[in-house]
Amino acid sequence: MAEKELGFTTRQIHAGDQTNSAGALITPIYQTSTYVFDSVQQGGARFAGEEDGYIYTRISDPTATEVEQKIASLEHGEAAIATASGMGAITATLYSSVVAGDEIVADETLYGCTFALLTKEITMLGVKTTLVDMRDIDALKNALTEKTKVVYFETPCNPTLKVIDIEAVATTAHAYNKDIKVIVDNTFASPYLQRPLEHGADVVVHSATKYINGHGDVIAGFVVGSNEFLATVRGQGIVHMTGAVISPFNAFLISRGLKTLSLRVDRHCENAMKIAKYFENHPAVKKVYYPGLESFDGYEIAKKQMDKPGGMVSIELNADRETTANALNKLKLAKIAVSLGNTETLVEHAASMTHATYSKEELAASGIAEGLVRINVGLEDAEDIIADFEQAFADLTK
Ligand code: PLP
Repeated sequence: MAEKELGFTTRQIHAGDQTNSAGALITPIYQTSTYVFDSVQQGGARFAGEEDGYIYTRISDPTATEVEQKIASLEHGEAAIATASGMGAITATLYSSVVAGDEIVADETLYGCTFALLTKEITMLGVKTTLVDMRDIDALKNALTEKTKVVYFETPCNPTLKVIDIEAVATTAHAYNKDIKVIVDNTFASPYLQRPLEHGADVVVHSATKYINGHGDVIAGFVVGSNEFLATVRGQGIVHMTGAVISPFNAFLISRGLKTLSLRVDRHCENAMKIAKYFENHPAVKKVYYPGLESFDGYEIAKKQMDKPGGMVSIELNADRETTANALNKLKLAKIAVSLGNTETLVEHAASMTHATYSKEELAASGIAEGLVRINVGLEDAEDIIADFEQAFADLTK
């Protein structure tokens, strides 16, 4: 009989434990750039892949190994690679998946830098990107060609929280060509709420800067997938092309943050639901975007593929760009800042900040209104967060 798998919270604490010569409970920070071999022959064997062991920190180090094994376990992937940033994970993955002449089909609602990478930077290397709304499976089918190597999307999406059916997209892409890599950015959900590989995706990427670390003090990322593909991502995407390796110190901090992921995210979800319901009845708010509200477009799909609806809430104010910005400037407890998954409540005005590079047409295509505000609901007392918005938005209802 197969051994029963340990629970998620147990694995976020114990998976990947690395033994160390001093017997330290916590895996030490291996703050070294290189590793010493017993002999030239041993060095040769490690470079040839004939012997396991560390060589050089741009390739791997034991502090990173611990956190990589934790994430692989939590995402139910064969392997994971920790990277210097979420963008490091995304570029290393894409550079390892496409060459000039290939095509990528991506969802049209993306994190700003991913959007720039897919629609500008990677096209300069001879790769074509086609954007579609992945909720429309026929549009996806029409965009796939013999040259398509990657299907790429986020769910929930940044910043409208649009939810995409992972299973439907993966099944469609693989039915067209089983070798297409379906890559999902799982940053907004975290592996505690959603594990895309269980729904047919091939690769998961993360900005670990967000919920996985959870404390707003590290930039990091992950790639999760099969042993075979991740060997390519490590060898080419990280070691040769981007050098986007995580530092041992940041790997240590991520490992530490990860141990409370499920506890933190439960509270994020609880607070987010209270705030979403508060805004549903707020006269200045035109629309609330939260996958946990029955009125939300992606509610049923979120229920199918997410264990809970997450800690991000977006609202659309009945206001133009300037009025929205002025109202946000009155917040006292909530901070005006990008990023998410932090203990502090953060707000960002997409049209003025993260998506400022989008043209009016691109904003409209992504469903980003001038009054759209993204809220990273923090871990404070929900009543205090609500009171802060109440005072900041008071003038909007006069
Ligand atoms: N993916 C998503 C959905 C994000 O929101 C972000 C950053 O905000 C990234 C990727 C990039 O991650 P990083 O800032 O860690 O490079």
